[in-house]
This record gives sequence, structure tokens and C-alpha cells, in this order.
Amino acid sequence: MSQDESLPPGSSLYEHGVTEVAASERTSVTVAACPVCGSDEATPRFEIEGVPQRMVVCTKCGLGRLHPMPDAETVRHYYPNEYYGEPGIKFQSLVERLVRIVGARHISFLSGGLHGRARVLDVGCGRGVILGALADRGFEVHGVEVSEGAARGADPRAEIRVAPTLADAGYPDAFFDQVIIWHVFEHLEDPRATLASIHRILKPGGRFIIAVPNFSSRQARLTGPAWFHLDLPRHLYQFPLAALNDLLRQTGFAPESVHHFSLRQNPFGWVQSALNLWTRLPRNALYTLLHHRAPGAQPPYEAATRRWLWFWLVVGTPIGLGLTLLETAFRNGATVHVVARRSSAASPL
Ligand SMILES: [Zn+2]
Repeated sequence: MSQDESLPPGSSLYEHGVTEVAASERTSVTVAACPVCGSDEATPRFEIEGVPQRMVVCTKCGLGRLHPMPDAETVRHYYPNEYYGEPGIKFQSLVERLVRIVGARHISFLSGGLHGRARVLDVGCGRGVILGALADRGFEVHGVEVSEGAARGADPRAEIRVAPTLADAGYPDAFFDQVIIWHVFEHLEDPRATLASIHRILKPGGRFIIAVPNFSSRQARLTGPAWFHLDLPRHLYQFPLAALNDLLRQTGFAPESVHHFSLRQNPFGWVQSALNLWTRLPRNALYTLLHHRAPGAQPPYEAATRRWLWFWLVVGTPIGLGLTLLETAFRNGATVHVVARRSSAASPL
């Protein structure tokens, strides 16, 4: 789809319905070896509207993944241009402003403890929002992005390479002080190879920060196929926190801390997942409403539906925030970020 083709109101090109696989069909099937634990047994869990893949769950470690794994060309079609928004703008302006305020906290977290001229890479940097903010603080910023369109309009101080995989981007060994992969890892075809590449290009003792949805969270378990962060079929993998930590250790990283609180992701995840579960509103309609539209384009949905969505946003956000504080207290964040160090051992890939 080209940028100037507008979608009819109410249509949401990139929302695929998700349903539970019937209990009678939830018997284990043989699949390719699990990238975390090597098991070749998995249980079908979710059907995804419009694609032949199902999401299966590893019977040993609980990793969720698409089966069969689609090829790169198929995956490309899961991302219409509107997924990325216009350069520099992804959300409506009010939401964008809130995102920026929350973003300042986020940048402090990402830059805390780095020396003044640290060289930082953001994997899947998109429009380079993180990189621009890190450049403001004086860091040397690099980004890698699979989509040329997504990186268009990025901060000119960021040195961005467009490549199909991190290995193809061709960075030298031990080049970066820090690598960030923020809600991107679950979109990548080969998690083990990605971690091996990150291990190679990080300096020994360098810091790695990874954020993913937590498939073992209460939010994921309670809302099942309605979970906002499933984002099927674009999320090729769903990581339970234990499986992620296990994979990090196996690939030469020492996890240092796990963070369960995300103001940007987790309260909204509760609100949108609850709407998906308990209302007849279109899947992820609130997210679609808040998503940026081209100037002059029709807003999505009828006026009455939009009013309901705003109502649920206002009513649901304090509840979502309360649940987020609870899940943080129980160290069970709906999305988590892990800070790890490259350990001296070579990656065993
Ligand atoms: Zn497994």
C-alpha cells in the first residue's frame, strides 16, 4: 500500500483477529527445535485471522512462536506503511506529547551510567526517537533498521544502516558500549543469531538493554487471545521472562536487573486487552484511534464508537495504572526490560 492511499473509516489493515485453538486440537505437535531449549514439541495455542500460521507454545520452556515460521518476504507484508506512521509522528499530538514526557524518563534510564562519549546502537531504531534524545546528551548514536521507510526522517545525528538482519549491517567486533533492542526482539526471525551478533559487536563488559512483552505475565495469562501485546502475526515470538533470561545466559550475557514497570506500555495494555476481551469494539480500536492519521483523513469508527473509546480510556487508565503497580510489586510486568552485560565468555552459537 502506498502512503497516500487512505483506509476507509473503521478499517484497520494491520489488526488480525486472534482466537484460542479448540481444546481438542491442543495436542503436542512436532516443530523445528526451540531456539531457547531445543525441544521439538509444542502445543497449538492461537489461530490468527488471515494467515495460515498458528501460535504454538513450547511444551518445555513456554516460548510462544509462529508455526510454521513465515519467510522474510511474508513477514514484510505484515507491516503496512501506516504501521510506522508519518516521519516523526506516530500518534495524535496530545498523545505524542505525553509519549515525549514519559520518554524523558526512559532516556534517563537508557543513558544512566554511560560515559560521556559512549557509542550506542539501537536495533530496530525506526524513526530514531531514542537516538535523537541520546544524541542530545552527547552520545555517539547508531541505528539499524530493516525498513528504509521506517527510518525516513530520523535525526540526522544518528548514523543509520538499513539491513535485513543485524549481522548484515556489518558492524566491527567490540564496537559499542551499549546496545538497545526496545520492543523489537520479538519481531525478529532468529533470536539466537541476533543475540550472537549483539555479543560480537558489544565491547567486553558492554551493556545490553532488551525490552519485550512478558508472555508469563498475569496480563498475558488473564486476557489470552485478547492480550494487546500479542500483536500477531508481527510478533514471531512471545517470551516468558524465564526463557528470555535463559536465552541471554546461553548466548554469553549476564542479566543484571529486570524492570517490571513501564508507564508507556503496561497500563494501556490492561485497558486495551480488557476492551478486546469484554466489548464488541474492534480489536485494538483504542490504539487505532490514538494512532496518527494523515491530516484531513477521516477519523476511524463512527462518532458513537469514538465516544465509547474515549470514555473507556478515561475510566480504564487509573484502573490500568493500579494493576500495573500491583504487577510491578509482584515482579510480573506485562512488558519487561532486562539489563545485561556482555560476559567475557564467547557466544556459543
Ligand atoms: Zn523451548
